[in-house]
Amino acid sequence: MSKKILIIEDEKNIVDIIKHNLRKEGFTTIEAYDGEQGLALGLNENPDLILLDIMLPKMDGFEVCKKLRQSVNTPIIMLTAREEEVDKVLGLELGADDYVTKPFSHRELIARIKANLRRTDIDDITANKVSEKIQCDNLVIDISRYEVIRDGEVIELTLREFELVKFLAQRQGQIFTREDLLEKVWGYEYYGDVRTVDVTVRRIREKLERDPSNPQYIMTKRGVGYYFNKGS
Ligand code: CA
Repeated sequence: MSKKILIIEDEKNIVDIIKHNLRKEGFTTIEAYDGEQGLALGLNENPDLILLDIMLPKMDGFEVCKKLRQSVNTPIIMLTAREEEVDKVLGLELGADDYVTKPFSHRELIARIKANLRRTDIDDITANKVSEKIQCDNLVIDISRYEVIRDGEVIELTLREFELVKFLAQRQGQIFTREDLLEKVWGYEYYGDVRTVDVTVRRIREKLERDPSNPQYIMTKRGVGYYFNKGS
């Protein structure tokens, strides 16, 4: 089944190019030209991934992102302008999984889309026959079901957040730099911004930890990076 990508972008010529390129790669696309329509399609049309521009009529991309995240875990890639450095971080804070800086190349966009699609990872899991659960004190990470459960309660994580928890939990006690994590979890070595990692860790802590300022799962190694607590 072909993956359905929702494009939320008000510039018709950009939409047309993206649409053309995605269809060439075998994706199905649906388009929205303003924020309200985008939100509605994102909630009702069950897309596999959402490309989300920031400057949009009716409702801006940040607002759309925030509202989508209240009910769906669909991967969201923000389309940001090069000069809007702060937008990248804000988008991630609001629950986007990734961003692509305009102007972007066709190849880059496709690469990011593929990296963010859940399917890729499920294929990897099937190939490696990994069907396991990681237990750490009162936390259970169910790899095949993409679930993190704390004290019997499912914690809602985005795909990227889950991937980061999984990666670190599978290597408990091992410290990774933010650059390492960008490469290993996000899957890119190029122009990745290490703040992406910090923001994602912060978001995970807010969901996972009883006291996010005093974490017990994903730990900071000051001046080095992050690691998953080995537990007691
Ligand atoms: Ca725009």
